[in-house]
Amino acid sequence: MSVDKGQPLMEACDRFVTWLDRRVVAAGRGDGLQRLEVAPSGTFWLGRLSRLVGKDEDAGGANDDRSDRLDPCAIGIRLRPAESSPWSMTVTVRARAWVKDSKDGPEPDRPWWRTGLVEEKIPVVIGASGGAFGAKQLQDAFSAVGAPGLSAEVCVEVEDWHKQPELVVQLVNTSPKSGRGLTDPHLYETQLEVAGLLTVPFELEALPDTFRYDRKVPAYGINVGVEVVAPGVFRTTDTVSVQTFRPEYWNSDRPKPDLSFARLAADPIPVLTDLVDALDEYDQKHWSVAALDTRQLADGWSDAMRAEADRSATLVFDELARLRAGLDLVRTHPEIRRSFQLMNEAIGLSAKGRGYHSWRAFQVGFLLSAIRFLAEPAEEADHVDTVWFATGGGKTETYLGLLLTAAFFDRLTGKRTGVTAWSRFPLRLLSLQQTQRFADALAGAELVRQQQADLRRTAPFSLGFLVGQAGTPNKIVPKPENDETGPDSPGMPDKYQVLLQCPFCRDERLTMKFDRKRWKLEHHCANQACPWKRGALPIYVVDQEVFRFLPTVVVGTLDKAASIGLQQAMRGLIGPPQQMCSEEWHGFTYSTRSKSPNGCLVPDCQGTLLELPMPEKRFGPSLRLQDELHLLRDSLGAVDSHYESLLDHLQHKLCGTRAKIVASSATLTGYDHQVRILYRREGRVFPQPGPRAGESFWSLPEDTKLRRFVAVAPRGVTLEHVSDRTLDALQRCVREMLDDPAKVCVEAGIDPSHAEELISIYGTDVVYGSTLYDVEAAGRSLGSNNTVDGINVEQLTGQTDFDEVRDILERLENPEEKFEDRIHVIAASSMLSHGVDVNRLNTMVMLGLPLTTAEFIQTTARVGRRYPGLVYVLHKIGRERDAQTFRHFDKYVSQGDRFVDAIPITRRSRRVLALTMPGVVAARVLMLKEPASKQRLSTPAKLRQYAHDAGLTPADEAAAVTEVLGLDGPEDSLHQQQIVEWVQEWFADLHDTASKARFIGEIGSPSPMTSLRDVEAQAPIHD
Ligand SMILES: [Zn+2]
Ligand SMILES: [Zn+2]
Repeated sequence: MSVDKGQPLMEACDRFVTWLDRRVVAAGRGDGLQRLEVAPSGTFWLGRLSRLVGKDEDAGGANDDRSDRLDPCAIGIRLRPAESSPWSMTVTVRARAWVKDSKDGPEPDRPWWRTGLVEEKIPVVIGASGGAFGAKQLQDAFSAVGAPGLSAEVCVEVEDWHKQPELVVQLVNTSPKSGRGLTDPHLYETQLEVAGLLTVPFELEALPDTFRYDRKVPAYGINVGVEVVAPGVFRTTDTVSVQTFRPEYWNSDRPKPDLSFARLAADPIPVLTDLVDALDEYDQKHWSVAALDTRQLADGWSDAMRAEADRSATLVFDELARLRAGLDLVRTHPEIRRSFQLMNEAIGLSAKGRGYHSWRAFQVGFLLSAIRFLAEPAEEADHVDTVWFATGGGKTETYLGLLLTAAFFDRLTGKRTGVTAWSRFPLRLLSLQQTQRFADALAGAELVRQQQADLRRTAPFSLGFLVGQAGTPNKIVPKPENDETGPDSPGMPDKYQVLLQCPFCRDERLTMKFDRKRWKLEHHCANQACPWKRGALPIYVVDQEVFRFLPTVVVGTLDKAASIGLQQAMRGLIGPPQQMCSEEWHGFTYSTRSKSPNGCLVPDCQGTLLELPMPEKRFGPSLRLQDELHLLRDSLGAVDSHYESLLDHLQHKLCGTRAKIVASSATLTGYDHQVRILYRREGRVFPQPGPRAGESFWSLPEDTKLRRFVAVAPRGVTLEHVSDRTLDALQRCVREMLDDPAKVCVEAGIDPSHAEELISIYGTDVVYGSTLYDVEAAGRSLGSNNTVDGINVEQLTGQTDFDEVRDILERLENPEEKFEDRIHVIAASSMLSHGVDVNRLNTMVMLGLPLTTAEFIQTTARVGRRYPGLVYVLHKIGRERDAQTFRHFDKYVSQGDRFVDAIPITRRSRRVLALTMPGVVAARVLMLKEPASKQRLSTPAKLRQYAHDAGLTPADEAAAVTEVLGLDGPEDSLHQQQIVEWVQEWFADLHDTASKARFIGEIGSPSPMTSLRDVEAQAPIHD
């Protein structure tokens, strides 16, 4: 192959991927081999055809549908002829055979040899009843290459049970089981080609949303893929390859406005106006009645499809109106405008030195579409705004932009301190990298705040880290017992370092310190030139410090919401604390307890109490963010729906406000239903999908390659065998590049100067299984079953320890000097699908399709993040769903989002209600009743007295719980009864002076949940 001098790396990557794929397919088919020591039928998984088992043969059942797919005896092409019968065409058959020498053959160690190519053109003319062709011709051809006894034929069936006739052209292996000179009745490297027939394409059925998609399919393969190699020439392929391309984030004839942080900080209105005008023009061009009329005619839309398109157009113009309104607010509302500008300045600072200095258009679009919640918080809280975008598009930065805008707006309008936003991630998905991004953005904002004369006297912008389960300590106690942490506990304080580098200066020299006087676990930056001059960095990683200082943004895991029913100081996350401690750095105070007699959370505090620095009502957060919304499903979704309602209820009671909810999601299907169930608000998604699949105003595919997906339907051998062999071939290729770069570069057409980098970029393969069982089996068999020596395998699953994960990620990011020391294969489960962003992962072998399309999309997005990726999707072809997907594989990849299944979620699970009620009742005591009582209600005795004095009744409490959870409809009578019964028992327990309960959390049974994960993670839940 010719190589251009100065070939760009991306081009070299693309050629290397093509070469890798060619080699893997060759390993599957046997191309290029001359001899084998073992039987080819146990080795090859592509291109082979087993023999047609006759009806009178007893061979474990004739070829039924399923076994036909697992080890097919035919491959074929389904076509729709354009004209009526008779039909004529030329069918070309290509195949080879493998023959075993007799005992005295020339190479007794490698007795199997591969024949020359059989390539026969067979003329076919058929009428309505079809026919079989070429039997004699093919039999003779196999004899001629040295494989006598093999036979095959081209069989054409006419099916007319659809509206139009369809032709099924197949190559069938008709060889006998045994015969003279016949050593293996399989055919290998088979291929079928049809030419000379005029055809019309198939049309995919009309599904909702169909108007967006190209429904034309030129031909269907049977047990294979089909490519159209020239007009009217259809050829089978052993694998189905689909190439995707990186998006370009601007799709307008108008020039892209300058959306740099600097420009938007200085003078936002002109560029924002240009952006909205360009969107307006695009929407008119594609979504106006006239535009839709034209498309309806051209694409043959049915009335239902048109109605669907009209509905979408309404949503698109609503979105345009929201952006216009957002633009008007930035123009006319001084605080909003200034917040937006300061946010841009801050993001500009935090992005410094990272190679980007401007927004993508959709990011600014989202900010404009959502910004109205600052001006009309009550009205806008009725809607959940969700950023929906392909992974890697910059979602996190987008909502960091919104978050900083809100933080500045809060400060400019009198919220001098306290939490602006609580940002939640599903468990295990909040990585340190993600936390760092939050810290960086806030550090940028803090530097900007310091320069604003009117904001200097407000609290510094700060970050809180609030995660459940063994992340960082809940509190630090002077004399630790059991699993408590004290200042001198093992690992303190270094073990709790959360930041990877200083968010102000990027210096990695961070030190951890526990300040006994301030009772604070601190991050310190060692850089003398750091712009942060105030000692400890403004990040709080201990729960109690989060409550004491109420940082501007709290980032954490979703499960932590359960603390609202356990921990009275959680009140700071939904409303006002009690007071402030007079001691410097002690912070806010809460209800008193025996260990904090004045309400200050610092042990043995002697301080007095001061008034809060701002009105109580301003303490409620402005925003709750939810990352990866689509994962809130099944039992987790059900439990969270109750806790979300509880948070809303408490904030409303304490502050009279409701937080705006903003989410990000990878999927759209059933989104509005999910939002309604989870949050009892209306869903709104940004951006609206464009007029055609994969294309909108905000993005369209450009020429740079993203991922090559290769569908494989293994034949005759196990999936594990194919996975081992595929990984083996990939590793063999990279080692060839290592050993003889000159040869490989010539073969693949690569500039040799890229060789070393390619070895790094493609030297680590991922094998992905949906179940732990699959992953472990893959890891094990690779160790024992490969032809390449020294493959280093590591596992990344939910079972892998956090330390180990960090270590593996570190090794992936910064690989060892010598190739042989590196990780060569990562065997991973869905744990990989979130937050693992490693540019060196670029090849993947997928063991069967994941259960959900969302998982498919997210998982495969882990490879090819910067360089072209290669993904082998090994189908478990015996399963109906895998077989269906194989048939539509190109549509599955290119239109993946419409294959995403609706999200199963309900708030009416009675099993879940039994788990959540205790938390609701306990939280109402801690957050509402205790502060209102002006006394300590921490023990059953005190609460009993208060309940008596205040006249609390089970009926009132049950009614309140029912209302909080939105289970007050006539269809919820069973739930209401369940609540009444439980609350009655709770009161009975409360009034039982012989009760063993020491704390209010111990009244009633069960106790409040300690984590939202107390339910079995993804168990299906029903109403
Ligand atoms: Zn620093
Ligand atoms: Zn104090």
